[in-house]
Amino acid sequence: MIYRHVGKSGLRLPAFSLGLWHNFGSVDPMASQRALIKRAFDLGITYFDLANNYGPIPGSAEENFGRILRNDLAGHRDELVIASKAGYDMWPGPYGSFGSRKSIIASANQSLQRMGLDYVDIFYSHRFDPQTDLAETAGALDDLVRQGKALYIGISNYDGAQTAAMMAEFEKLRTPFIIHQVRYNMFNRQPETDLFPVLKSAGKAAIGFSPLSQGLLTDKYLNGIPANSRASRSSSPFLQPKQVASTIKTVQALNDLAHSRHQTLAEMALAWNLREPELVSVLIGASRPGQLDDNVKALAHLDFTTDELAEIDRILDR
Ligand code: NDP
Repeated sequence: MIYRHVGKSGLRLPAFSLGLWHNFGSVDPMASQRALIKRAFDLGITYFDLANNYGPIPGSAEENFGRILRNDLAGHRDELVIASKAGYDMWPGPYGSFGSRKSIIASANQSLQRMGLDYVDIFYSHRFDPQTDLAETAGALDDLVRQGKALYIGISNYDGAQTAAMMAEFEKLRTPFIIHQVRYNMFNRQPETDLFPVLKSAGKAAIGFSPLSQGLLTDKYLNGIPANSRASRSSSPFLQPKQVASTIKTVQALNDLAHSRHQTLAEMALAWNLREPELVSVLIGASRPGQLDDNVKALAHLDFTTDELAEIDRILDR
């Protein structure tokens, strides 16, 4: 594994991090969850990404992760970076989502309790709240640090201008804000012009989520939608068969280019994300340990020629 500094902070993160958005809920077998976490750790993946609402049912991913931590990774806490977030809908009523002081502090306390932790390494505001003053959200996050409940602070899904405004609030408080979690992959390149310049000028870093566009940027859908894939699961509204259909020609062309580099498409897509200097880590998901083994092979060939990058741009622009 390669570990890189998160912007100008002293913290280093692995080039590959594991997200627990899918496959760690109360509906998922515990044996497969344990196998995934253990394989990730053995591969040098030290960063595990959670949120209050990951499941289903919401909260169950944090409970399951806490269980695995106690049973399988006892004694390894200081080798791990554990993150959680608050901001999306979590509990009924006016306090279970967004960025008020009430919501952020209550949610963080719940997350710690579910995971059985005294503190998380990174706590994120999961989304911009148009109805709450940024100073209030920043103040609540800062207090989590002062209370010893979080070591570092991050934000997620804020655009470039919102990020700049939030960073100004953190600056006033001297909050250890270090990282932005953003959707970045070959099909979502907006951060290149909107967010990354803002982070670069402040010496901050991004961690990219859905780097494989939830599996679209792999060879798995080239011959239809296999059973047990994310697009086949009606329980997941996030990846639909129509997205597979609308991207398939592009994916085929990218797959051919990946083969000319002696890589799988997943490896090339991940290496392409990691070429971006502002991106410290790619936050991958996996439904089985073999996918983790396959994906970290990207590290063997991270370089791109100018011609390859131009060809990728051409394929994506079609
Ligand atoms: P990816 O784009 O990496 O998609 C992961 C899925 O792709 C896997 O679950 C698997 O799905 C498939 N896959 C992975 N590797 C391979 C492979 N080698 N070959 C074929 N298929 C493969 O990331 P996610 O969308 O899962 O997001 C990752 C993490 O990012 C989340 O867990 C979460 O922590 C974070 N995130 C944060 C958000 C935010 O708002 N801050 C929003 C979304 C995600 P299959 O089931 O088909 O096997």
